[in-house]
Amino acid sequence: MILLKELEIKGELREKEPLSRHTSLLVGGEARYFLYAEGVDDIMKSLSFCEHDGIPYYIIGKGSNVLFLDEGFSGLVITTERLDIIEVNENVIRSQAGASLIEIIKRCKEASLSGLESLSGIPGTIGGAVIMNAGAYECEIGDLVLAVSILRKGDIIQLEDFHFGYRESTLKGEIILEVILMVNEGDRNEIEGRMEEVLEKRKINLPQLPKDTGTCGSVFKNPENKHAGFLIDRIGLKGRRVGGAMISMEHANYILTNKYAKSQDVVELIRRIRDAMEKKYGIILETEVVIVGKEKEIQI
Ligand SMILES: Cc1cc2nc3c(=O)[nH]c(=O)nc-3n(C[C@H](O)[C@H](O)[C@H](O)COP(=O)(O)OP(=O)(O)OC[C@H]3O[C@@H](n4cnc5c(N)ncnc54)[C@H](O)[C@@H]3O)c2cc1C
Repeated sequence: MILLKELEIKGELREKEPLSRHTSLLVGGEARYFLYAEGVDDIMKSLSFCEHDGIPYYIIGKGSNVLFLDEGFSGLVITTERLDIIEVNENVIRSQAGASLIEIIKRCKEASLSGLESLSGIPGTIGGAVIMNAGAYECEIGDLVLAVSILRKGDIIQLEDFHFGYRESTLKGEIILEVILMVNEGDRNEIEGRMEEVLEKRKINLPQLPKDTGTCGSVFKNPENKHAGFLIDRIGLKGRRVGGAMISMEHANYILTNKYAKSQDVVELIRRIRDAMEKKYGIILETEVVIVGKEKEIQI
């Protein structure tokens, strides 16, 4: 029987890797295997091995919207973050899934290409952004996606037919290898100005994180026509703590973690917020952060 570590993989394969190192919440137990994929081939080989041997797998970008539990992940977690080539050709941007959204926006600015400025400051990869349909200030990445390459049953397929909703996409469940965005020609100074404006707004409206503080951004999706953060604040939950996790004093939809936090602390705070919201306003909050159990995504 061959083992995952015996496959000819270019990327770095680690065993018993703490997932707290790979998520912006800075919590999570160990992955049995963790792979920094160095090429599409690495993803293809390791996934076909996992599928053949019934080993669970999970793909992440930079882990800025994922909560792994303390029990960790029993199979293989792959990060795409080393697949980060970005090509700009006129107004079309072709990026590997692990390219950072912030870097793509910078490259657009340098090429005087407009469309992504409102997303300035959102951490993570383009693959993660497309799956989550990341958005800010009236703009969502989905509006600009022309095509994606995905890996399905061992084949690379280009898709142009998909749909996006509020922090969701019909591409969920697919493995994204490459994203093609279409943006517009613009004026470099104006683009730069809009980016600075957005970054300034984020600085004012979102918590500034002290060193060693984790977060995943907004924990809950906004209920229709309402702001989750505003409602959580009205219930009086700002500053509430469980272990090393705390509801931010600056933005009630942010949970902040310190270096002693466990995933369970975050889970407990999520449950308390949800229960209080249902009791007070009859609203069932849905998490935006993706929660991953020992073998797959779960709801808590
Ligand atoms: C400080 C902070 C601020 C934030 N602000 C915003 C904001 O303003 N707006 C917003 O929308 N979000 C925001 N977020 C959330 C997060 O940054 C985005 O959702 C981001 O796009 C996720 O990218 P990622 O690479 O980190 O994805 P990950 O967290 O690694 O993954 C997210 C999901 O995408 C899947 N995924 C990732 N890559 C792939 C791939 N190649 N193929 C298939 N599935 C994949 C994962 O399986 C997971 O389900 C913020 C987060 C933080 C920490």
